[in-house]
Amino acid sequence: MVHEEKLLEIHDLVKDYGNGPVLKDISLDVHKGEVVVLIGPSGCGKSTFLRCMNGLESIQSGEIRLDGNVITDKKTKWSEVRQKIGMVFQSYELFPHMTVLDNILLGPMKVQKKGKKEAQEEAERLLERVGLLDKKDAFPRQLSGGQKQRVAIVRALIMKPEILLFDEVTAALDPEMVREVLDVMLELAREGSTMVIVTHEMQFARAVADRIVFLDGGEIVEMDTPENLFTQPKTDRAGRFLHTFTFEKKEG
Ligand code: ADP
Ligand code: MG
Repeated sequence: MVHEEKLLEIHDLVKDYGNGPVLKDISLDVHKGEVVVLIGPSGCGKSTFLRCMNGLESIQSGEIRLDGNVITDKKTKWSEVRQKIGMVFQSYELFPHMTVLDNILLGPMKVQKKGKKEAQEEAERLLERVGLLDKKDAFPRQLSGGQKQRVAIVRALIMKPEILLFDEVTAALDPEMVREVLDVMLELAREGSTMVIVTHEMQFARAVADRIVFLDGGEIVEMDTPENLFTQPKTDRAGRFLHTFTFEKKEG
């Protein structure tokens, strides 16, 4: 697939929490309909990078544009931008005292001021899509981790974001629940959603990504198609990192 139109443009981004830069001059364009997967060792800056993209972290220098408009200046209304840049976290952050449906309706009704009927129809349509329509009146504690994470994805989708950011959304799940969440994300990718995904699920990364970005020490060390990156990494650092996911059978 050819992705030409730039949706998110990140230029020379520097993030420093106060102990030296955590992101060092990072530049990345995400095109409309493209799926970019960020991989890299723990602490290399993946979460920070995603959080900078939707204004959850202030940045020290650089620029981010969405649809060509700068979103990193003082005038930026982040509450508006965040409707266009949805994010799903490792911890689902659903409100425990609210039903699945009410959790999902919060955004469209409170933030986007949509009517209840319209919002509810859309919520039910999306719940159906992730296989959870029968759970709409359940409370989060009555759901498995995988189900909660699918609700969290619906909660992001209902805002009709232009781009979705996923930060290790399966990292806290039991293995048998990982698949059901990854399948939803694969489906979104097939439908042409623009996504930036942080994951340690390498087979999934390979299947879903148009491009993989290998981040190490706050820098983009390598950026390539999954095919190239996994079979012939150009740098030792990427090669060593990818090797940590492979096992060789013991001889003898
Ligand atoms: P990753 O998601 O790749 O594991 P993070 O983006 O969470 O990495 O962290 C990158 C670096 O920034 C780490 O050294 C981490 O300790 C530091 N860091 C992350 N969040 C904060 C914070 N709120 N305050 C200070 N340092 C932070
Ligand atoms: Mg992280």
